Amino acid sequence: MELWAREFQNKNLVLSYRIKRTLHTERSKYQDIAIVDTYEYGRMLMLDSIVQTTEVDEFVYHEMITHVALSAHPNPKKVLVVGGGDGGSIREILKHPSVEQAILVDIDERVVELCKQYLPTISCALDDPRVTVRIEDGLEYVKRHHNEFDLIIVDSTDPIGPAVGLFAQEFYRDLYGALKEDGMFVAQTEPPWASKTFLPELHGVLREIFPIVKLYLANIPTYQSGLYSFTACSKKYDPEVIQPGKEITGTKYYSPEIHKAAFVLPPFVADLVKVK
Ligand code: SAM
Repeated sequence: MELWAREFQNKNLVLSYRIKRTLHTERSKYQDIAIVDTYEYGRMLMLDSIVQTTEVDEFVYHEMITHVALSAHPNPKKVLVVGGGDGGSIREILKHPSVEQAILVDIDERVVELCKQYLPTISCALDDPRVTVRIEDGLEYVKRHHNEFDLIIVDSTDPIGPAVGLFAQEFYRDLYGALKEDGMFVAQTEPPWASKTFLPELHGVLREIFPIVKLYLANIPTYQSGLYSFTACSKKYDPEVIQPGKEITGTKYYSPEIHKAAFVLPPFVADLVKVK
């Protein structure tokens, strides 16, 4: 019998992955968690039936959500990841020698525990001495911190369930407050194909808070139609500009050339985020 894991992109479109076996399923306090072994993408984490990460293509997402801002900030020492319980962003952040402390705040301890157990190539840096893992709602954590972080990365689930507040104006104001005066913030901001209103509204809100707001893109095969967006917001440094002395080796998608190219938007995407 063939086994398939399905992700509904919307009510008219479904992506299916043929699986070798199901490694784990459970309902945590916050979400349905499944870890399956697929033929094409290796082991895959799904939350509420939505693909979060796979062993084969995770490097694109994790390199692009981290190295762009880490290379555009001259000296990032203290970095916060909100969400990101699989540990992939933390693994990449620690490749930057300036980073002294990386704090991961995920609401769901079961995601962290299961990724440590079943996805070791992704979660492998979570026990590094520079890393602190806190199990808490990122909204509450960010609210309590002021003028503290050089970089905040919001590596969240889609804007549904516990992550809804992570896409709201109040949270972005709190993020601004939690950043140092030259701090930056990056979030995954969904595929440009998904909705015609999401990115224009989001960028409108962010531009009221941050002086610099820029969209960039990467190709991630397991995220809804491939073309995926990130938004970098900054108080001072231009996220497009790589600071001198930034050499990052061992990456498979990110490079200085990709960094620059990622900000070149196809006209239909540029139109979504242009100032009207
Ligand atoms: N790369 C992924 C994607 O875009 O599909 C995100 C992966 S990561 C596993 C997402 C994490 O965000 C989950 O572990 C989830 O528990 C966490 N999360 C959702 N809402 C949160 C909140 N309010 N505070 C902290 N973490 C949250």
